[in-house]
Amino acid sequence: MTFAPPTPRTVLVTGGNRGIGLAIAEEFLALGHRVAVTARSGQGPEGSLTVTADVTDAASLDAAFSEVEAAYGPVEVVVANAGITRDLLLVRMTEEDFTDVIDTNLTGAFRVVKRASKGMMKARFGRIILVSSVVGLLGSSGQINYSASKSGLIGLARSVTRELGSRGITANVVAPGFIESDMTSVLPEETQAAYKKSIPAGRFSTPSEVAKVITWLASDDAAYISGAVIPVDGGLGMGH
Ligand code: NDP
Repeated sequence: MTFAPPTPRTVLVTGGNRGIGLAIAEEFLALGHRVAVTARSGQGPEGSLTVTADVTDAASLDAAFSEVEAAYGPVEVVVANAGITRDLLLVRMTEEDFTDVIDTNLTGAFRVVKRASKGMMKARFGRIILVSSVVGLLGSSGQINYSASKSGLIGLARSVTRELGSRGITANVVAPGFIESDMTSVLPEETQAAYKKSIPAGRFSTPSEVAKVITWLASDDAAYISGAVIPVDGGLGMGH
């Protein structure tokens, strides 16, 4: 049996300078795609184009997209990965703690998708992938802002699917569980051990395991998958 090589695409990953975003950019590069990453600080992996953008600022995103389009042509695959946490119990969470997380994780994804959709509609092709979280489905004590932002991405992807699905554009959500990254390495050892006990797979995932699902969703093989929520969580969120 022979396998066709993937069609090279122009890919933009937000927050591709570190963590899961860096792994996603590396995986797309390894498959031969043209990869640009947005970063507020630092650089994407070798072989990628790094553009400066803050997802809370539509003008900076617009400039970043224009730079990528000038270098690589229209963005065909966009991965909205940039995200933050600001964990606090409800009674201690200020309105600013809530709206700042929504502004980055949910409104930020809206800004990215809106800007990307222009070129995708024209090309009648696009792959939109939003990085959510298992807590967007399960909820999480101390993360009301974060889990609300991550649930919101599901409505976003599904509505985009309904609006743009007939134009060759898919929009999907990937919901990672616990991933080995800066976000989880700050957790105390005992907390990490307790979390691992609750995961059927008994371990955290590597960023690359998330990245491989995302590159597959962007591939020609996944053309008929849209509005889906794909868990990459070792079974943690089963049934949701
Ligand atoms: P990191 O904290 O390691 O990296 C976050 C990335 O987002 C950085 O590149 C950061 O850029 C970027 N970012 C944050 N705010 C902005 C902004 N306003 N504008 C542009 N870029 C921004 O996170 P992870 O790699 O762990 O997480 C990546 C995604 O995966 C997030 O959406 C997260 O919610 C999600 N996720 C993570 C899980 C985990 O266990 N780690 C589990 C489930 C989901 P800079 O370096 O400039 O700050």
